[in-house]
Amino acid sequence: MFAASKIKRIAVHPLLREIAAVFKAHGKQVFLVGGAVRDTLRGAECADWDLAGDARPDDVMRMFPGVIPTGIKHGTVTIRYKKHSIEVTTLRTDGDYADSRHPDSVYYTSSIEEDLCRRDFTINAIAAVLPEGRIIDPFGGREDIERKLIRCVGRAADRLNEDGLRALRAFRFASQLGFDVDGELLAAIKERPAMISPVSMERVKAEFDKIIASQKPSSALLHMERCGLLPIVLPELMRCRGVEQKGYHRFDVLTHSLLACDYAARSAYKQTVRLAALFHDLGKPVSAKLGDNGVWTFHNHEILSADITRDLMTRLRYSNADIDETVHLVRLHMFNYTDSWGAGAVRRFVRRVGEENLQALFDLRRSDSFGMFGVEPSPLLLLNFRHRIDSVLAAGRALSLKDLAVNGRDLIEAGIPPGKKLGLILHNLLEAVLEDPEMNSKEKLLEMTARLSERME
Ligand code: ATP
Ligand code: MG
Repeated sequence: MFAASKIKRIAVHPLLREIAAVFKAHGKQVFLVGGAVRDTLRGAECADWDLAGDARPDDVMRMFPGVIPTGIKHGTVTIRYKKHSIEVTTLRTDGDYADSRHPDSVYYTSSIEEDLCRRDFTINAIAAVLPEGRIIDPFGGREDIERKLIRCVGRAADRLNEDGLRALRAFRFASQLGFDVDGELLAAIKERPAMISPVSMERVKAEFDKIIASQKPSSALLHMERCGLLPIVLPELMRCRGVEQKGYHRFDVLTHSLLACDYAARSAYKQTVRLAALFHDLGKPVSAKLGDNGVWTFHNHEILSADITRDLMTRLRYSNADIDETVHLVRLHMFNYTDSWGAGAVRRFVRRVGEENLQALFDLRRSDSFGMFGVEPSPLLLLNFRHRIDSVLAAGRALSLKDLAVNGRDLIEAGIPPGKKLGLILHNLLEAVLEDPEMNSKEKLLEMTARLSERME
């Protein structure tokens, strides 16, 4: 087994050695800290480098060209060096936390041990001295990496009081790394889940996004449920617990949604598909009706799910583009293709979904299917439909007004006055072309225009 606890020194990237040489030339010390050290010790790729050192932000700005003051208040600047962005934070200790959000004051220190004290978890409180890579690990972080354990630096309850986001960060790391969460930390979160409430939505969203981007989002979300964070952060999802749907499904709505989301994550589907997989049935608790035959129905739940998803993602401050895409997928997730669909129906479906969203909607359907019984869906699922779409599109691609062989100006020239009637005629022409692409010639459409115009008199 890979023994992280035995590692005394890590290999240091040549670029970091170069940067360390500049610090040294100015009489300053610098350390690699945070995720980069943790991930190197785990034997994993690390995404970015965070440095900490005794140089003040203005020292660093003098030492390197092109330094960006990204978080001056907390002593953080970003060095742009040979196409890399590297954050450098001045060694510091945090003052008191009055509001469970931000320390009231930040004090600089020259001691790396003091700096490591303020960090959240032991696995994140390890430093490597640059340039040689010698490890400084005052809290047993390497052992916790080996035991796959997320544990606070110091008393869990105190550390959560300082910053409520740490509860969510613990579960985020559990999902990302596949680690367990220490019992004392779990108990402290369960004791006071409301400490997440004062934390800003931007910070919550950043962690939630990383949970969804991880390999197994359900691991964090189930922790959140057990510790009482889920009803505070995502009450819409919590309401899905215990909503039975026997008949079509094996699981209640929450378990189904978690399985669908995990499937999307495992399949490396994009973020909006993962979100749609988690949210696609949020409308079920409100639309559930028990039929005379003892079977639950959820009529039009996709419309309600779409509305609830929009509100939830707006609250979490997602971008409009992400919200629109996710809501669109949620609203359309209930399509039910059979071979009896005519070419017109297939074309209308593609128009409604948008060609650019077809793959995402199919990925969502695969995830949804998996979540019904927890069984890998047949590769044949949707294959037929895909082929049908391809052949129908090959026969004629007119799917929107701009693809029509006539435009508004042509109709005006043909004597239709600009206004509501003209719009209505264009819409009817498109419907006709969706039904039969052969109709898409200027001559035929102008002929049809004349007939429609007469009928509308
Ligand atoms: P990632 O790979 O996601 O970047 P990371 O561990 O580098 O993981 P960051 O959010 O970039 O996470 O934070 C960098 C380091 O800063 C952490 O490893 C941790 O030591 C410290 N840190 C970040 N947020 C907090 C916090 N809320 N409380 C205490 N320490 C924190
Ligand atoms: Mg980081």
